[in-house]
This record gives sequence, C-alpha cells and structure tokens, in this order.
Amino acid sequence: MSKVHNFSAGPGILPLEVLKQSADACINFDNMNLSLLEISHRSKNYEAVIDESKALVKELFEVGDDYEVLFLGGGASMQFAMVPYNLLTDNGFAAYVNTGVWATKAIKESKIIGKTNVIATSEDKNFNYIPKGYEIPKDADYFHITSNNTIYGTQMKSFPKCDVPLVCDMSSDIFSRRINAKDFSLIYAGAQKNMGPAGSTMIMVKKDILGKTGRKMLSMLDYQVHIKGGSMYNTPPVFPIYVSMLTLRWLKKNGGVSWIENINQQKADLLYNEIDRNSQFVGTTAKEDRSNMNACFLLNKPELEPEFDKLWKGAGIDGIRGHRDVGGYRASMYNALPLESVQVLVDVMKAFEAKFA
Ligand SMILES: *Cc1c(COP(=O)(O)O)cnc(C)c1O
Repeated sequence: MSKVHNFSAGPGILPLEVLKQSADACINFDNMNLSLLEISHRSKNYEAVIDESKALVKELFEVGDDYEVLFLGGGASMQFAMVPYNLLTDNGFAAYVNTGVWATKAIKESKIIGKTNVIATSEDKNFNYIPKGYEIPKDADYFHITSNNTIYGTQMKSFPKCDVPLVCDMSSDIFSRRINAKDFSLIYAGAQKNMGPAGSTMIMVKKDILGKTGRKMLSMLDYQVHIKGGSMYNTPPVFPIYVSMLTLRWLKKNGGVSWIENINQQKADLLYNEIDRNSQFVGTTAKEDRSNMNACFLLNKPELEPEFDKLWKGAGIDGIRGHRDVGGYRASMYNALPLESVQVLVDVMKAFEAKFA
C-alpha cells in the first residue's frame, strides 16, 4: 500500500493492522468460513464482539458496573435528540455550552424536547475559543458540553465540576487523552473520528440518571430499551462495532490512553510550534484552547494557497483542507496518525517558507 499521510477530519485514519483484520473478517470471521457480514448478530461469535467492545470501553474509561455501554446507529447527531429525550423533564431545563456547529445542532434538538438554556457561547468570535467562567445552574436536569470542536480546532482542557449530570459529546477526542470518566454521567461519540468507521455511535451512560422524565418513550429512542436489549434491541451496526472493537484492542495492546495521550501531545506540539514559528502561517484559535486533535491554520498570504497545496499534495499528504466555516487548513491528528506524518507536514511548511518568504 502506498503511504498517504491521512489528516482527514472524519471519517478519519484507522490503524493499518485494524483495516487488514477487518478486511479478513469480511471473508472469514473467527475461522467460521463465513463473513462477519453474513452471520447472525445473535450468534455466539458475534455476541463475543459486543461483549468485548463494551468491556474495552469500560476498561479504558476505568468505570464500573454503574455505567452501561451501548453501540447504536444514527451517528452522534441521533444523540443530540436522544439525550434530551431521555433526560429532560417537563418542568425542568437543560443547560448547554455552545462551542460550534455540533453544539448548535445539539441545542436545536433539545429545544424541541423542552426548556433549554445556553449558559455560555463563543459564537461572538466564530467559536475560536472555549467559554470560561460561567456558572452551571444547580437545578438543571443536565449540563451538556462538547469536549473537542472538530470544525474550529478548540478543545476543553479541563472539565467543570458539576452538581448535575454532566453530558459530553466526545466524538472527536474520545480515548485521545486521560479523563476522569466518573465525572461524566453520559458520554457519546460517533465512532468515525477517533474510534472506528462511520455507522456506530458509542454511548456510555450512568444507569441512575435514566427513567426520570415520566415521558412515554418511543422504543428506539429509549436508552433503557437498548440497555435491556444489550445493544441488540434491533440489529446493531455489526461491522462498524467490530472495527471499533479492533481499534480499542489496538489502543489497549499498545499501552492504552496514557500511551496515546503522550504521542498525541508530541504531534500537537510539533505542529503548533511550527505554526507559531513559521512566518507564513497563523493559527486560528485561542492558544490555550488549541485542540490536540484538529489544528486549524491559515496562510498569511491566502493568494499562495495553490502553491502550498502543490507542496503538500506532492509530499503524499491528504485531507488538510479547512472546513468551509473556517477556511484555510485543518490537520486532524487522530490516534492512528503517526508522529512521522506530522513531521512530513512540518517539513512541507518549512519548505514553503524557504521558497515564498
Ligand atoms: C462529526 C461530529 C458529530 C456528528 O457526527 P455524526 O456521526 O455525523 O452524526 C457530532 N459531534 C462532533 C463533535 C463531531 O465531530
């Protein structure tokens, strides 16, 4: 396979060994001489996949049996609706921080279900920073945050202490750094950024926050129905869950979250140091809120973009075009991206400076 340095923002890079094992399982899963894609999700062999996936999530998050893990379809966007549907009461309200497009979409859904207060926002500066210094209402049904803002390249470096259930969209930085997962009542993540392929969403929820709305629940939107069904109330996204399991196995085998946190920090330091040093580039976000996953930057002379594009494409780099809301460039450095790929990008930036400064 030719070497492409894949900085795609999502679906994002996966470990090559995981892709190979996944490809094999499409032909011959577990030495059954059957494809993973053509066996019952209730077969013993597949049940082992679901069980191991859940166990790996709990182990990597270091949580106990007061939490349940689900793998559902519908993407993180489905969770924007399921969270308020399952947690927001008729007389209560939800509190949200708005840190970008994804948070805005989560807020939109919550407002349809019930009273929703946006207690802080960074919309005034096109979401280029993380709001701080707000007070979390002690009587909210829950408090919702987005740990990493994929589009703008901002990341919460610490999490607020919170008397109400803390709910977090962790789609783009899940298992990228150590967190105290027990401080969260619900974490959800679409798999396709840092955990697996598109098609399954991981939800880890503390059981005691559920069943309190008094709402008559639609089955498919009810966490408790999915918990009771063991993520198999209906046919689960079998293949995406399997690939996520392999990715989590890869993470665990190599040393877990603290291992990858260290590498992710090295990658981020390498790239941000170059953005700051290089006369031709400028970062787009507040320095203290810079994401270790998605680094957004602009050329000081945007008219030179075609020249820069030629250089990075020639170096085998892919996927660094910025999101249309920010422009410029975005280098996503998810867990599976090697340090070496970031070095290639940094070398290209240096070569660009030498040629055009
Ligand atoms: C990509 C992304 C989403 C949307 O995920 P889907 O699986 O496409 O619904 C939500 N939140 C964040 C932080 C994301 O990066």
